[in-house]
Amino acid sequence: MYDLLLKGGLIVDPKNGIEDIMDIAITGSKIAEVASEIDARKAKVAINVSGKIVFPGVIDTHVHLRRLGYRMVAKAGVTTALDMGSPAKEIIEDLKVYGSGINVAFLTNIRTYYPNAGADLTDSQIEEAVDRALSEGALGIKITGGHRPFTPKTTAKIIEECNRQMAYIAFHVGTTETGSDLNGLIEAVELAGSNGLHIAHINSYCRGLIKDPIVEALEALKHLRGKRNIASESYLALINGTSGKCENGVPVSRVTRNCLRMRGYPETFDGIKQAILDGYAHVNVKAGGEVMLVTGEDGVKYWLEAETDITLSFPVNDPEAQIVLATAKDSGGEFIIDAISTDGGAIPRNVAIEKGMLLVKFGALSLSELAVKLSLNPARMLGLESKGHLGVGADADVTVVDPSTCKACMGIARGEVIMINDIVVGRGGCILTTERGREAIERANVPYKVIDLSKTKIYSR
Ligand SMILES: [Zn+2]
Repeated sequence: MYDLLLKGGLIVDPKNGIEDIMDIAITGSKIAEVASEIDARKAKVAINVSGKIVFPGVIDTHVHLRRLGYRMVAKAGVTTALDMGSPAKEIIEDLKVYGSGINVAFLTNIRTYYPNAGADLTDSQIEEAVDRALSEGALGIKITGGHRPFTPKTTAKIIEECNRQMAYIAFHVGTTETGSDLNGLIEAVELAGSNGLHIAHINSYCRGLIKDPIVEALEALKHLRGKRNIASESYLALINGTSGKCENGVPVSRVTRNCLRMRGYPETFDGIKQAILDGYAHVNVKAGGEVMLVTGEDGVKYWLEAETDITLSFPVNDPEAQIVLATAKDSGGEFIIDAISTDGGAIPRNVAIEKGMLLVKFGALSLSELAVKLSLNPARMLGLESKGHLGVGADADVTVVDPSTCKACMGIARGEVIMINDIVVGRGGCILTTERGREAIERANVPYKVIDLSKTKIYSR
C-alpha cells in the first residue's frame, strides 16, 4: 500500500529524462513508483494533480531563515534550504518552534565567533571557527565580505582552511581591497585559486556600480565559465536585503552605502531616513507570521523602533542582468551559474519558482531546464544524490506548481505534505549535517540526516 499518490500531473524530472503526464507514488519518505497509470486502490491517499506540474522538491541554496523564513520558504514551495549565516544554536531552537517541515542545511557566519574582530583573523582563530562550525552541525562557513570585509589574506586563508577541513564555504564577495561588486567577484575567483568555493548571489555584483549591468553580467559569466571548483547561484528578485543599522550616524553595511549612493542619497543616517520616506528603502517588518515591506512614515517609525538594527530592502537588482545570469550556458550545455536561489527566507523575495516559471513562459528556459536550476543542480551543489530527481528510491521531496499562477500549490518533504494552497501545514523539519556534526545535532534531539561533503560540487572534482 502506498502512503500517497499524486495522479495525472506533468512530471518534470530531467535527471531521469521524464517530462510526461504520469502518476507518482510515495511510501514513507521515498518515491516508490512512477508510472503512466497507478491504481488509486493501491494508495491510502490519492491527490489529483492534473493540470499541475510536478517538480523534484525545490532546493533553495541561499536563504536566511531567521524564524519566520521557515514558513515563508515552505509557502513558496521550497522543500530544502541552505541557510547562509545562522549559528547552530539558532537553527536548532528555531526548527523546533518555527519549523515548517523543510530540510535545512546551514552555514555559520564566521563573524558569529568573533563579533568584534576587525579585518583580520589569525590562522588559529580561523582553524578554530571552521572546526567549531562543523562540530556544532553546520555544513561549514559563510563569509559576508560585501557587508563587513576581511583583508584578502584573511579571506583566502578562510577559504583554504575550509578546504583543508572539507567544510562547505560560501562567500558574499568583497574584501578590504574591493567591494560587493564585479571587482569583488573577480577577486573572489582569484582568492579561491584551485580551492572549492560557493560564490553567493552572482546577480548582486551586477547592479551597474562599475559598468552597465548587462556588461557586468557578461563579464561575471566570463570569469565563472569552466570553473569546476566554484559553485554559484543567482536570484530573480528586484529587491535586495541589507542592514539598516547605523553607528555614529553612518550605515554599518557597505552594501547599504552602495544602495544609497546608487540613487544619490548621502551615505548617512539621514540618507537612509529620506530613502525610506521616498519609498526607495523598504523596512522588513514582521506581521502575521511573515515579513512585509514597509516604506514612508510608517517605515521610518519601524526602523527607529528597532534602533535602526533592522533589515532594509532596496530595488537595486537589474532584471535584464538577472535573466542573462539565470539562463547562460557554457559550450557543453551546462548552466554557468548552477542554480536559481532567492537569498530570501525571512527577506520577502521567495520568488524563485514564480520568476522561474515566468522565464519558462517567456521562452528563456524549458520546464526541464527550470527543474535543473531549481532542484537538480542545487542537489549536485550540496552532494544530495537522493534529492533533485524523482526516481524510485529518491527522497519523497516534491514541489507541485500551478502553471496558471506560476506558483507552488503543494510542497511535500520526506513524504509528508508540508504546504497546500498557500497554507503551511508542516512542522519541525530535518537538519542536514556532516559526520562531524552528528553528535551535536543528535544531542539537540532534532531529526537529522548525515551528508557527505566530498560529494558536493566544490569538493567532488
Ligand atoms: Zn544572503
